[in-house]
Amino acid sequence: MGNRIKVRLVNYTKRPLETVTWAALISYWDGWETEAFERMSGKDVEKHLPKVLGYGHESILEHAVLTFSIEGCSRVCSHQLVRHRLASYTQQSQRYIKLNPDDVEGTFMIPASIKEDPELLKEWKEFMKHSMELYKKTIKKGKHQEDARFILPQAVRTKIVVTMNLRELKHFLGLRACERAQWEIREVAWKMLEEIARNRELRPVIKWAKLGPRCIQLGYCPEGELMPPGCWKRTREKWERITEG
Ligand SMILES: Cc1cc2nc3c(=O)[nH]c(=O)nc-3n(C[C@H](O)[C@H](O)[C@H](O)COP(=O)(O)OP(=O)(O)OC[C@H]3O[C@@H](n4cnc5c(N)ncnc54)[C@H](O)[C@@H]3O)c2cc1C
Repeated sequence: MGNRIKVRLVNYTKRPLETVTWAALISYWDGWETEAFERMSGKDVEKHLPKVLGYGHESILEHAVLTFSIEGCSRVCSHQLVRHRLASYTQQSQRYIKLNPDDVEGTFMIPASIKEDPELLKEWKEFMKHSMELYKKTIKKGKHQEDARFILPQAVRTKIVVTMNLRELKHFLGLRACERAQWEIREVAWKMLEEIARNRELRPVIKWAKLGPRCIQLGYCPEGELMPPGCWKRTREKWERITEG
């Protein structure tokens, strides 16, 4: 499995950009009516949505929600994810999972920096295997899995489903696609953006709402002197590759 984290956009609001545009039009269109939703076309979206988002009226983005599945990230990562409060989550339970002590890398996330150091990697793997064996032994001795799991390192992999509206997703990407974010949650954030970029219906909103790290959203880096060297160029190029490629 390596460090591979799988992220998929599994579902989203039907006709997402039409929904958001139709909601926006209620504010200033005299002829607005419920049935106008059915008549909303791609042309209406293109005419109104970039303009309204350009004014900074972002609350309309809350009318479209996206559901992602994330598999194989660590609990270190999922803990950072769930700090984002304006989203909904369902996560694999540690009370029912079965761990395999012979599959250390399948069960735990091992950072690349550790993999580069053969001596450390060996010790890490031994420690992880030992934690799994102790986990199994604890269960075998009749203790409940909900107690046995206390012995597992935070590196243990997990699966989580997250549903965010587009406005919260923008906020999340702003913070977590940034190079200042920790590498694993950053990987998840960019994969979410890639999933949106791959989707024909949603793709245009990336440019109109500036979905991406905060330097893309704001046009400058709010991290100031904390900005990693060369980050601005790297990030812009990566964003353009994903959103234009
Ligand atoms: C680089 C980085 C380093 C971090 N380091 C730490 C750390 O050392 N320790 C730590 O504890 N956390 C840390 N965090 C997590 C961070 O503090 C936030 O908890 C996390 O990013 C969630 O962001 P949020 O609160 O802006 O947004 P969300 O929970 O996604 O909410 C979105 C927005 O809604 C509004 N909002 C939500 N809830 C409320 C509320 N109750 N009251 C008012 N407004 C609300 C705010 O405007 C908020 O920005 C770090 C995050 C990053 C990106």
